[in-house]
Amino acid sequence: MRSFTLVCAALLPAIALAQDGGISGPTTSTAAAGYSCDPSKCKLPDCNCASTSPPGGLSPSDVPQFIVFTADDAIQSYTLDSINQFLAQRKNPNGCGIKMTYFTSNAYTNYTLVTDWYVAGNEIADHTMTHVGQPPAEEINGNLISLNALAGIPMSAIKGFRAPFLNYSSDTLKMLYKSEFLYDSSASASIPVTQSDTDAYWPYTLDNGMANNCLAVPGTCKGEPKLPGFWEIPMYAFFDDVGPHLMDPWLDNANGASSANDAATLSYMQKTFTAHYSGNRQPIGLYMHPIHLSRTYPGVNARKSTIDMINAFLDWAQQQQNVWIVSNEQLLDWVRHPVPASQMNNLASFKCATPQVDASTKICNGIPQNENGLLSHCAFSDFPFYTCYGCPTTQPSPSNPNPPQDLSGGQTARHRLPTNCSTPFWDPIDGKCLCTSSTCLFTDGSRPVGPNGANLTGGGTGGAFTASASTATATDSFVPFNDAMASPLLSKGARHAIILGFVGALMGTLGVSVRF
Ligand SMILES: [Zn+2]
Repeated sequence: MRSFTLVCAALLPAIALAQDGGISGPTTSTAAAGYSCDPSKCKLPDCNCASTSPPGGLSPSDVPQFIVFTADDAIQSYTLDSINQFLAQRKNPNGCGIKMTYFTSNAYTNYTLVTDWYVAGNEIADHTMTHVGQPPAEEINGNLISLNALAGIPMSAIKGFRAPFLNYSSDTLKMLYKSEFLYDSSASASIPVTQSDTDAYWPYTLDNGMANNCLAVPGTCKGEPKLPGFWEIPMYAFFDDVGPHLMDPWLDNANGASSANDAATLSYMQKTFTAHYSGNRQPIGLYMHPIHLSRTYPGVNARKSTIDMINAFLDWAQQQQNVWIVSNEQLLDWVRHPVPASQMNNLASFKCATPQVDASTKICNGIPQNENGLLSHCAFSDFPFYTCYGCPTTQPSPSNPNPPQDLSGGQTARHRLPTNCSTPFWDPIDGKCLCTSSTCLFTDGSRPVGPNGANLTGGGTGGAFTASASTATATDSFVPFNDAMASPLLSKGARHAIILGFVGALMGTLGVSVRF
């Protein structure tokens, strides 16, 4: 069942790529890849050969099992509600809330929610302005400009790109390189890790060209395109008895059946996870179009059982040793600086750094309690939105991604984010930075508690999922850590979710539309 994704149908120059993230079989082969790379010349942190072995020569048993969590398309209250069903209540083994990557399209996006999501620690990445495959440069770069101007996301923080419909070309990759992106994540790993010719490579740089999607994207592979230091983070598929499932696998029919079956989907997701976990621990990914799983967007009736099933999968995975749910940014940070799972607490990007801004401070900064009442409402008929940074005179577009501010009716211009202040500390109304020294920046709330945190599991929605078909089991059993974290207190993530929910309710009158 792919009734929603049909909306996004686009033709691809592809053999096995279907619309909007679907693949039906292998998208590469060893011969088509024609890939070679000398690891003695290509070294971390800025060069990595495409390889199925973990980076840094680590033995798989010392490697964290990463579950990459990404979402695509517009950011709205509905889409964040949807993601929060799965992540708000969870923590990683260091006691920190989960961070994810949101590949953001400009159209239909509510900028204030982008700011909030970013300030809460998530990664904001580029998915073009108007959601076009094989995008021209202005679609890619225009999105950078408008996310910076109207959502206050630092240019340096927007590191990643995913092509709409996963439809990219060699030129797309070259454009990303030219615009100094750090990575692309549009290619698929389409052959199971249990096969000797698997294309489930750890993230790699394009110093020696692409090794994925070689049968699908002309002008790539066999050494092309050579883009030194630019990374590809393959999207790792799940596999049922018939073939791969890449994006939104829960919308697909498992094993060629005629209807979706949550228990069957859970079973093959667990089986694929276990193959990764008991092998070379290549990452696995949940690549979501969150609107499909919304329980708050009118007209979308996501099945409760599907939501419970995804939470059951995450609960099950998190009960195993050294499993981390991460953003692409975090994954890449670890790949570039690989440490054994026991030393994960040493990596700054995995810590929970909360901006130290007093709750009573009135500042439009991406923290709902601070910015309440300070947002500008930009009442465009297509997609009205809120922003801290002043309404533009016209809607941003690829040809004009940063229109002048609307100062009609005596409105005062707001100050856009400068390069020397971070988003939660920048006051766009007074044009000043609340924090200019390291002593006031962020508090580190991470707690080095061991291989698995307590309270990591427990579902999200209060519902239980019972799947008779969940036959896969983990090789390691759950080892409780040192009892240091038995607190039943609401996590920071959960609190933030409640606040976001409140903002969402406030914005309920918005005539928000949806795109895929
Ligand atoms: Zn998309």
